[in-house]
Amino acid sequence: MPDTHDAITRIEAIYLRIPRAQTPHMGLMPQVNERGYIVDPDNGTLYPADDRTVVLKITCESGKVGWGETYGITAGKVIGELVRDLIEPTLRGRDPIDVQVIWQDLYNMMRVRGYTSGYWLDALAAVDIALWDLCGKILNQPVHKLLGGKRRATIPAYITNITGSGNDARLQSVETQYDRGFRAFKVHAARTYDYISLLRDLRQAFPDVALMLDLHWVHTSAEALSIIRKVEGCDLTFVEAPCRYEDIDGLARVAKGSSIAIAGGEEWRTVYDAQARLKAEALTIIQPEMGRSGITQFMRMANLAEVYHARVMPHATIGFGIFMAASLQASAAIEDLPFHECQNNVLPRHLPLFDTQMNCEAGFYTVTDAPGLGIEPKDALWNHIVA
Ligand code: MG
Repeated sequence: MPDTHDAITRIEAIYLRIPRAQTPHMGLMPQVNERGYIVDPDNGTLYPADDRTVVLKITCESGKVGWGETYGITAGKVIGELVRDLIEPTLRGRDPIDVQVIWQDLYNMMRVRGYTSGYWLDALAAVDIALWDLCGKILNQPVHKLLGGKRRATIPAYITNITGSGNDARLQSVETQYDRGFRAFKVHAARTYDYISLLRDLRQAFPDVALMLDLHWVHTSAEALSIIRKVEGCDLTFVEAPCRYEDIDGLARVAKGSSIAIAGGEEWRTVYDAQARLKAEALTIIQPEMGRSGITQFMRMANLAEVYHARVMPHATIGFGIFMAASLQASAAIEDLPFHECQNNVLPRHLPLFDTQMNCEAGFYTVTDAPGLGIEPKDALWNHIVA
């Protein structure tokens, strides 16, 4: 067996912010508070008005560096404190190839205190992604090889930002993306516009595309079923997040009464979140989010989905690119994965800050074959560090 031994010497969480022009949020221009946040008027969720993330850097004795990333969109400096105070002292000297053992050891450290989700798991996701990157670099293999092999070199992408105010502008936005080669689109429900008529118009104008609807966790099961009946003729691929996160029974009632597949999972951190819902027959499409799960839990969720004959269609939000690269590496290794979400407004803004072959063009993501995750920060990224 070749000697692959290396040892973790340093772990740094780097908080980054990039200003952006304020754009309407779900058709509205909400008030930005003094810390730079807005509150979504439909579901009450907090969002930053600029781009924020936490990049994680793990350095080894050999000088090799692994890159991770998690959600830094709210109170991102929390991750830095967890890394400094709890994670770095525990992991110094450990072998990065023990990545799954390390995830479990860190999880076990805080389990009985009730830290089984939230910021603690976000920090674990970033560490896990960086360790998988190191595994690939040490073994000179792309991460998808280490996960069992690449099932596809490209991954179909669905567009999740249909921009414009008014349905005509949104139809135009879809047409532009259609002409670029995209064939799958998700409509976000909001009170500010008639998303039901938009779905009907889209289906009529684009009979050959896949259409999805995201209901953003705000409905009771009865309300969700009533909406689903209105869009039954639109041949939707899924309806996402119809009920609140906590309402597993409601989700199961929706799944039972719906003629359209139910999807969910962007807020999950571990396979236990997936298990509770798959066991309850509450959905048939899971949407794990790499920036919250890390690779280890992302793959465990996908493996569990296979047992329940559910499909995997990963979520993708507002990272800068590292957890996106991790999501594509993992997605390439999963058998039943018809689509990966594409934040078409976000990814192109950040890709120039990295050396990577990763891209999303003409309806497909490219999976890279470079060792590790296949993404390295350029110096320009560090211009956006928040001290
Ligand atoms: Mg969503």
